[in-house]
Amino acid sequence: MKKVYLDNASTTAIRAEVIQEMTKVMTEDYGNPSSTHSFGRNAKSILELSRKSIAKHLNGTAQEIIFTSCGTEANNWILRSAVKDLKVKRIITSKIEHHAVLYTVLVLEKEYGIQVDYVAVKPNGEIDITDLVELLSQEKKTLVSLMHVNNETGIVLDLERTGIICQENNALFHSDTVQSIGKTAIDLQTVPVNFIVASAHKFHGPKGVGFAFIRKNSGLQPLFFGGEQEKGLRAGTEALHQIAGMAKALELSYGNLETERNHISELKNYLIDQLEIEFPAFVINGSPDGFYNILNVLLPFSEDKTAMILFHLDMKGIAVSRGSACQSGSIKPSHVLAEMLSNEDLKKPSLRISLSHYNSKEDIDLLIAALKSI
Ligand code: PLP
Repeated sequence: MKKVYLDNASTTAIRAEVIQEMTKVMTEDYGNPSSTHSFGRNAKSILELSRKSIAKHLNGTAQEIIFTSCGTEANNWILRSAVKDLKVKRIITSKIEHHAVLYTVLVLEKEYGIQVDYVAVKPNGEIDITDLVELLSQEKKTLVSLMHVNNETGIVLDLERTGIICQENNALFHSDTVQSIGKTAIDLQTVPVNFIVASAHKFHGPKGVGFAFIRKNSGLQPLFFGGEQEKGLRAGTEALHQIAGMAKALELSYGNLETERNHISELKNYLIDQLEIEFPAFVINGSPDGFYNILNVLLPFSEDKTAMILFHLDMKGIAVSRGSACQSGSIKPSHVLAEMLSNEDLKKPSLRISLSHYNSKEDIDLLIAALKSI
């Protein structure tokens, strides 16, 4: 049985060149980057070259890139320090953020008594920018936290426009860019964002490593304390093989961006065409103009089929997701779809299909055939 992986918003396969790079670092470059001997200096040089390479792809500076263990850590760090150290009194976010942001904001609200406002979400899953402008008219030290590409629907936020609005209203702007980094160009010289975050396993790199972009002179303080690594902003011996793997993965993602984006976009169009042919009553949750690798669809199956569809697909070797990764297997409806769909539609089966350049038309055909056999 051919196994078909269509869950690339959850995580992605590591590129062979990345594994090669990581294996090389683990085998040969095992020095501690903080050591002053030649082993340490060699490791330090790999660390700093990785940082430089990542910064270059985003048009930022190397000193603005801080390595973390994942996207979740980077989000937690930025939000917490903004409140604790930068004295932010109010966070404007949305109910469709990833839990790494949503739950952190809830905890900060309780711990620090900050004001939290949720910007309205349109029925198609887009952030209502007019509502954001209205919310920003209040005078209070504010951080806006809105994700770039929604991990469940693929809905895209206009980063540049949102950044300009935040700037005009003297608000700090943090964007969870975990789903977009490596998949679309981001120019940090033109996008006025203060903080963004990335996670390597979303762009064909290893799990357990990510980074935060912290714009110069932000005043952010560390989340935890220890050694002087990462200029004291993130203590702990750097996971050099992970970081070198992440830099390699980003380099390859941006190097192949056009070709891979074209291939994936074509596949997404093909998928929509096939769904239209075989299940004409299907509905896209969000918009057909969503991000090119994610499609969230409401299928015209009866409610009683909802629970067994993923299982049925899994039995046929096909991996898709019902919502975000952490929710697969859970019977709670997706908090993102809950903001967009009626209670009736929420009970019906929705699938998130997320593609990568490793997918082919055959994968889509197998998915459609499996859905038809339900
Ligand atoms: N933010 C978004 C939008 C995500 O999709 C994810 C992963 O599912 C995360 C944050 C968390 O990233 P990590 O797995 O690196 O902690």
